[in-house]
Amino acid sequence: MRIACIVLIAAGRFAAAQSSVDSQLAAEIAKIKAIDNHAHPVRPALGSDKDNDYDALRVESMEPYTEPVRTREGTPLVLDAWRALFGYRYTDRAPDHVRELRDRKKQLLEEKRDGYANWVLDQLGIETMLANRVAMGPGLAAPRFLWVPFEDALMYPLSNATLAARNSDRKAFYADEERLLQRYLKESGVKEPPATLDLYLQKVVTPTLERHKRAGAIAVKFEAAYLRSLSFEDVPRAEAVRIYSGAHALPATEAAYTKLQDFIFRYIAEECGRLGMAVHIHAAAGAGGYFHIAGANPLLLEPLFNDPKLRKTNFVMLHGGWPFTREVAALLAKPNVYADFSEQTFMNYPRAVAQVIREWLEYAPEKVLFATDAYPFSDEMSWEEAGWVATTTGREALGLALTEMMRDGEITRDRALELAGMVLRDNARKLYQLK
Ligand SMILES: [Zn+2]
Repeated sequence: MRIACIVLIAAGRFAAAQSSVDSQLAAEIAKIKAIDNHAHPVRPALGSDKDNDYDALRVESMEPYTEPVRTREGTPLVLDAWRALFGYRYTDRAPDHVRELRDRKKQLLEEKRDGYANWVLDQLGIETMLANRVAMGPGLAAPRFLWVPFEDALMYPLSNATLAARNSDRKAFYADEERLLQRYLKESGVKEPPATLDLYLQKVVTPTLERHKRAGAIAVKFEAAYLRSLSFEDVPRAEAVRIYSGAHALPATEAAYTKLQDFIFRYIAEECGRLGMAVHIHAAAGAGGYFHIAGANPLLLEPLFNDPKLRKTNFVMLHGGWPFTREVAALLAKPNVYADFSEQTFMNYPRAVAQVIREWLEYAPEKVLFATDAYPFSDEMSWEEAGWVATTTGREALGLALTEMMRDGEITRDRALELAGMVLRDNARKLYQLK
């Protein structure tokens, strides 16, 4: 019911687009309790207890860049989210109005404490959120929140000085990865990366993945596109062994280090197949003025998807490859490859997202997943607001895509309803074998 109200409020701002969504379909879509394939919820923290585990590479450390219009400071979407989530009564951001909102949020946090994040999910019509975080903690508990840890750090056991020197964003990102590797080394009971690659895989990489699995992880996440290209070559083990050991005497060249990373990445992907964890890959343009968009083209992942050794591993292209969304449609033909449309749903307008969803649904509807990428971007757009924008836009875009397919005689109304359920929850339920 609550969600129906949210959608009605949203309809105000998206009036033109909303008017062409079939009303029965819109009502059904609003009712479906979703599984959110990818998000960064923040632990409800009171007082000085601050949560920094919502991302391994936090975007606050980046140089300023030209942000997409919809997520810029001052976007009217934030006001819509405040109205829907926190009963905000104003159409402006006057300081005393914003102060009232802050007090309301604080009051809700104090009232609900560890139940706050669950309450947010209820407002968003989300039953289960895959929480892509460094660690979980009080207030983000299964079954509502399921863990997706980061594994990039394991790919960088050698000196990262040359890679970090490329620009200030990379410098901050590699420092973050080095800190996380230190954490994984410590948790694995070693002080530094062991002398040989075999020992490193045996004593650090596999135990870290197994630890994550034991702690409830259903998938692992790579933010590799922020650090390097998504082209992961199939490097012979002997060559990787040589590069790893050789680096004790002389730092590896960038080309050699890339090969070592490629080998470790594929090793992790294969291990994830064995352990039954899906591999999530950021495959889309990303934040920042130095982000290498061409290096994030999902077509670069094709050799990986085509490797028979990795057919037991399920891969999910997060953010659906934007702007390479048509390439993503073609890649969905691989039996173990999926995509979600997160990030697009707060960066882009519903009609643009609808076109993408339609193209995928016309090709491989079992592989399409709903996701928000709810993220604490700023004080005014935290994960609650970003989640609201993404879920509202996502449901509307899905409604538009299905309505158009129905009107063009491609599918019946019953099939449209079935597809809505598949995208919003059933595809994810099957992929992660959720009850
Ligand atoms: Zn994300």
